[in-house]
Amino acid sequence: MKLPIYMDYHSTTPTDPRVLEAMLPFFSENFGNPASRQHHFGWIAEEAIESSRTTIAKTIGALPKEIIFTSGATESNNLAIKGAAEIYAQKGYHIITAATEHKAVLDSCKNLERRGFGITYLPVDKFGLISIEQLSEAITQKTILVSIMTANNEIGTIQDIAAIGKLCHDKNVLFHTDAAQAIGKIPIDVRNMNIDMMSVSGHKIYGPKGIGILFVRAANPKVKLMMQMDGGGHERGIRSGTPNVPSIVGIGKAMEIASLAFDEETSRLKSYRDKMWNSFQKNIEDISLNGHPEQRLVNNLNVNFHHVENSTLMMSMKDIAVSTGSACTTGDPEPSHVLKALKLPSDRLHSAIRFGLGRFSTEEEVDYVIDKVVKNVQKLREFSSAIKFKNQNTNVL
Ligand SMILES: *Cc1c(COP(=O)(O)O)cnc(C)c1O
Repeated sequence: MKLPIYMDYHSTTPTDPRVLEAMLPFFSENFGNPASRQHHFGWIAEEAIESSRTTIAKTIGALPKEIIFTSGATESNNLAIKGAAEIYAQKGYHIITAATEHKAVLDSCKNLERRGFGITYLPVDKFGLISIEQLSEAITQKTILVSIMTANNEIGTIQDIAAIGKLCHDKNVLFHTDAAQAIGKIPIDVRNMNIDMMSVSGHKIYGPKGIGILFVRAANPKVKLMMQMDGGGHERGIRSGTPNVPSIVGIGKAMEIASLAFDEETSRLKSYRDKMWNSFQKNIEDISLNGHPEQRLVNNLNVNFHHVENSTLMMSMKDIAVSTGSACTTGDPEPSHVLKALKLPSDRLHSAIRFGLGRFSTEEEVDYVIDKVVKNVQKLREFSSAIKFKNQNTNVL
């Protein structure tokens, strides 16, 4: 077993060697610009892009023309939310999202708020789920868009996307979902689930960084978006800029592998995750789980080790890469907006550790992490109670 151990697969994943292999020729011999319609180099590039688009569409039940390539899920979220708001502003100015969304969704909504849109931020219950009834009540004649993530990147909670999609379609409101964490972990079919727009990120699914997908429904209803990047009119005029050919090939391969490996991978990761949680419960007192006990990502375990500062615990096991919250806002000492939305007692906001398992996790690594966490939590608790005891004695003196 090699140290350090990577157990932070929600923040990013290594590029799968098969993905890298598929990409390499498109940096060198197949370097053409797909917009060069007059020669061989352009044709090869265009063919590769269209083949990737077709593969991706198949894995989510979409049509190839409904797949738009972007620079990542951040851009996809911006494009979906701002792009729809600008087109449908005549119909209404109201958008609904949830308090636990990724910053790319929340900040896009805040941007629109400054431009006069009204945003409803739905609360979540203690497990991180929104209420369908509350969503239904929040939808008005002026609502144009609902944006609710499929699965949360911190606590792993999976929303009932099919029910949300059905409600939105019954009420004639567009539905966008950020599925960056859900792809490869739960089955997704955009038609069955009534999804109108869906964001995907390459580097969360063993593809390269800097590439993403936005699924944009072409019929029933046909979704229109205002381009956020003006230019040559690439990607059906929705997203300009010379396509990132190697990465488009890469994300196509990554989606294909995710779909082929689905059964094996989800059951393996679930067994690792359950082993960790059962061992923690058996061997450590005073812990609690963040997120939903069942309706959660198979690779996510977010645990509060009460009375132990998460940053101290992490410092005590430098050979294990885990996270205290969302990597997208690290360096930020503020407790995560997701944990805050769960209304945890305030002393638990700083004791949560997120374990993220992935394709290259091994049982040996899982056992090492269990052992180390059990020992270090005990050690840190003994240490802090020793200090308390010492302080009490000093106070007496
Ligand atoms: C990582 C992530 C993003 C951002 O994706 P990028 O491709 O890094 O821009 C958005 N939403 C969720 C849920 C994520 O986990």
